[in-house]
Amino acid sequence: MSVLPLPVHEASPRRLADAEWERLERNAAEILSAFGMDLDTPGTRDTPARFLRALYDATAGYDGDPKLLTSFPAEHRGDAQGLIVEGPIGFHALCEHHALPFHGTAHVAYVAGSEIIGISKLTRIVRLYARRFTVQERMGEQIADTLVDLIAPRGVAVHLDAAHLCTQMRGVEEDGSRTVTTVWRGAFAEDADLRREFLLHLR
Ligand code: ZN
Repeated sequence: MSVLPLPVHEASPRRLADAEWERLERNAAEILSAFGMDLDTPGTRDTPARFLRALYDATAGYDGDPKLLTSFPAEHRGDAQGLIVEGPIGFHALCEHHALPFHGTAHVAYVAGSEIIGISKLTRIVRLYARRFTVQERMGEQIADTLVDLIAPRGVAVHLDAAHLCTQMRGVEEDGSRTVTTVWRGAFAEDADLRREFLLHLR
């Protein structure tokens, strides 16, 4: 089994000391209370701590994903394969401009070279980059580049379709507006027929 040295996939769990959590809880309480929340009720007393924990869990992508490394390569079939498409893969991310969620679906496709990857790993790659403070464009690029690094496919396509709460919650755009981004690598960048075939799978 060949394991590539890929720092970006390495598990390096974040560690916050208890004293740091307590300081952050005080800061969160100050913000929530200044903005109008009554923190002195049974329902809200623990909200600063819960808020921080939810934010921490929603950004677990920074902890890496050891399972991406340890089981790679999941499968190996020798010669070139056809188009492999996975999706819709649901995801929730946090926009780095407002720290508010954007969420939607990903479709990831590749044309294999000499190696393929377990389908569940594609979901893991999407989650690895979604659960961070990020922007949709970069998230798509990172998913594509990681697949290239892992299995050197002949081509990769990533299509992300998401609703951004930072615009919807503040009335800048109508509810229901979507942001769509696509990333093409290798054969997909060169071959319009291949792009069309991929886009047919999105319907
Ligand atoms: Zn935003």
